[in-house]
Amino acid sequence: MVESLYGVKEETKNILVYIEHFGEEIESVSLEMLSKGRELADQVGWELVGLLLGRDVGKYLDVVFAHGADKVILVEHRLLDHFTVDAYSHAVFQVLESHLPSIFLLGATANGRDLAGRLAVRLKTGLNADCTDLRIEPDNGVLVCEVSGFGSGVLALIDIPNHRPQMATVRPGVFSIVEPAGVKLGDVVDFEVKLSRDIIRTRIVKQVLGKQVNLTNVPILIAGGRGVSGDFILLKKLAELLGGEVGATRPPVDEGYIERERQIGQTGIVCSPKIAICCGISGAFHFVIGIEKADIVVSINSDPDAPIFEFSDYCIIGDVETILPAILDELIEFKEVIHG
Ligand SMILES: Cc1cc2nc3c(=O)[nH]c(=O)nc-3n(C[C@H](O)[C@H](O)[C@H](O)COP(=O)(O)OP(=O)(O)OC[C@H]3O[C@@H](n4cnc5c(N)ncnc54)[C@H](O)[C@@H]3O)c2cc1C
Repeated sequence: MVESLYGVKEETKNILVYIEHFGEEIESVSLEMLSKGRELADQVGWELVGLLLGRDVGKYLDVVFAHGADKVILVEHRLLDHFTVDAYSHAVFQVLESHLPSIFLLGATANGRDLAGRLAVRLKTGLNADCTDLRIEPDNGVLVCEVSGFGSGVLALIDIPNHRPQMATVRPGVFSIVEPAGVKLGDVVDFEVKLSRDIIRTRIVKQVLGKQVNLTNVPILIAGGRGVSGDFILLKKLAELLGGEVGATRPPVDEGYIERERQIGQTGIVCSPKIAICCGISGAFHFVIGIEKADIVVSINSDPDAPIFEFSDYCIIGDVETILPAILDELIEFKEVIHG
């Protein structure tokens, strides 16, 4: 067995969380992992440490501490101004080599995934990607990661008993953010990294923000599946009337009827809306994982035996092409009565 750069004997009993930021804000997934990390650290009596890299990132310290960190490792460098996987993996590697955390958690964002894979290879350790839950065995400090996978309805529990750090990525929306109870302070460790321009093989020429939609925290989700036959017009009207957003299962995304960023499920977004309205969706495990945190699920399906009904609070058996116009008519009428 290949040995990791450091092992169980050298580890320090702490959970390190990579704090990702963009623009003026910390990514919500980092706050979600701090909240989960706090819960885990309290269970085993370990320290929760935030890892903050960039340029002028000290401004985020208060938020990181308020969300549960006991300590923050602060890495400031002019070459960390924008994320490049070369500079960031070199910098984080130096931090890990020096601080030897037992557990290292990152958000399963585009950059987080890129970084996690490279670091796991350099550290010769294991990485559990896209975990849906995490717990620590109190007796031996082993992180047990719940991962759905193997292309079917299997939930696997995977651990990394002998290699360190125990790395895991978690997608946005899987854990809830525990809102800060008040001001909290902790230790700040300024860590100096050695970086030079020649290790960075990419050059940021310009940053252009696309028109993005983030379904993670939408209050109302109107999701369409293969049963809507590629026609999302009625779903968009319903979303507009209710103040929600449209999402989809994988088939309409793969067939190009709707943007990939709107895909819900295991390989899409995990969301936690107050209401999810599922139209023409069978209820495959891969999709359901993306809406199982919804407070209320309403499903419309022409097949009375569709598995989605098992996960639904309200089941409407019928053709979406008949049911959706009827709902829209009722809503429009209702709004007219309310607003005169
Ligand atoms: C590794 C892996 C990862 C995956 N990740 C995802 C993922 O992230 N998200 C995801 O969604 N899928 C994912 N899938 C695919 C997933 O397994 C299912 O194939 C997919 O969710 C099915 O989508 P669907 O319900 O739209 O289509 P179908 O299963 O074809 O269901 C269509 C439903 O529409 C109903 N219907 C048809 N016509 C009408 C009508 N006129 N009115 C009302 N109802 C109607 C039918 O009765 C049926 O129940 C993944 C698969 C794999 C192997």
